Amino acid sequence: MSENKARTQKSWGAYGALRTTLILALVGYLLWTLGKSNPKVKAFFDRFVSDQKAVASGTILSVGGESMGTYWNVKTVSAPKEWDGASLREKIAETLDAVDAKMSTYRDDSEISRFNALDSTDWFEVSPETAKVVALALEISRLTDGAFDITVGPLVDLWRFGPNKAPLTDFPTDDKIAETRAVCGWQNLEVKTEPSAALRKSVAALQIDLSAIAKGYAVDAVTETLLDAGIENLMVDIGGEVRCAGAKGDKPWTLGIEKPVVSHDSVPQIHRFVRPNALALATSGGGRNFSVLGKTRFSHIIDPRTGRPTEIGAPDAKNAAAERGSVSVLDRSCAKADALATGLYVLGSAEGKKLADANGWPVLYLDRVNENDEAFPETESEAFKTVDSFLPK
Ligand code: FAD
Repeated sequence: MSENKARTQKSWGAYGALRTTLILALVGYLLWTLGKSNPKVKAFFDRFVSDQKAVASGTILSVGGESMGTYWNVKTVSAPKEWDGASLREKIAETLDAVDAKMSTYRDDSEISRFNALDSTDWFEVSPETAKVVALALEISRLTDGAFDITVGPLVDLWRFGPNKAPLTDFPTDDKIAETRAVCGWQNLEVKTEPSAALRKSVAALQIDLSAIAKGYAVDAVTETLLDAGIENLMVDIGGEVRCAGAKGDKPWTLGIEKPVVSHDSVPQIHRFVRPNALALATSGGGRNFSVLGKTRFSHIIDPRTGRPTEIGAPDAKNAAAERGSVSVLDRSCAKADALATGLYVLGSAEGKKLADANGWPVLYLDRVNENDEAFPETESEAFKTVDSFLPK
């Protein structure tokens, strides 16, 4: 090879490397910009970046990852020195893995999957944590008169919203729905904690689905683990169920309630901000998780009283006045807020507000009134009016 040719190849090589670096930098910048407004992308980046920023009176550390089929993000402020990004992430992942191993219906070896597979009506031993979540679930079923019901598992499967991802090609017949409903019902499930924690079903085919409560329970578990570790200022967000403690420096934690726009992946737009202090905030809605068959759209939240999804509507309906948008609930326990949000979503804003007022629950409903999603009328419970909240400017 001549000396000139070698020099030319070398300079083209350097130019190529520079060009590749510039392209990668541009792609990285674009992804980062997108990530700022999309919680899933943001959580992905938070996994790698121990986002240590100074806030007014301390240092904020942000870590994130994936668990239970969704993202998680935790922020701490002025945490004790031993809690760096790596140790924090490890502690949180350990707590989340423990919940997943007990309560997931997406893995065959969890306590709940093994209970579901049991063809017997004998007591089945579970951990105290699973028994506690099931006991709370049964209490919420009682309070919502069965609108919240963890035994809807077979119906969730019938409408293809659980682990079975095979697409629905035809609507289930009335007979099939009735047959499936016959093996559901929270009154067919019992829980005990003494002398050991256990569950029992009175119908062998009964199945439990903790998807509407265990994510909130996981938020509580992470929050309490970190509080016990001496971290006083924190915010724990798992797939949109959030609990805070302390403050974000010299400011209170501020959370956003999304507009319930019907879209699987649109960038979230904030409808209202809330400062929950030490309360947890959980939201349920059909806008993100829904299926479409022919011209009919239907949400993942099932009305146990009918065996059908709560919202069945044409995607191009001109007047969707009857449609639910979302419901947000605040409570000390994120597990309770999570479960109540699902139950109150099933009931709808008129009936749900009455129940929320009778029990003193802070609840905000956002309804959908037109297909363009231009406005979302609010229905506030009396207790929600005392919550510190404000509309974006
Ligand atoms: P929520 O309103 O909080 O819950 C709705 C869900 O509850 C429905 O999707 C249905 O499953 C069930 N449900 C429907 N109607 C009712 C009713 N009337 N009463 C009670 N429950 C009802 N998803 C994955 O894709 N992959 C996973 O590996 C995975 N693992 C998980 C592990 C655990 C421990 C948990 C709790 C969930 C897991 N998920 C997984 C499920 C995923 O996170 C769900 O989408 C999520 O839990 C539903 O939460 P949401 O906030 O969207 O709706």
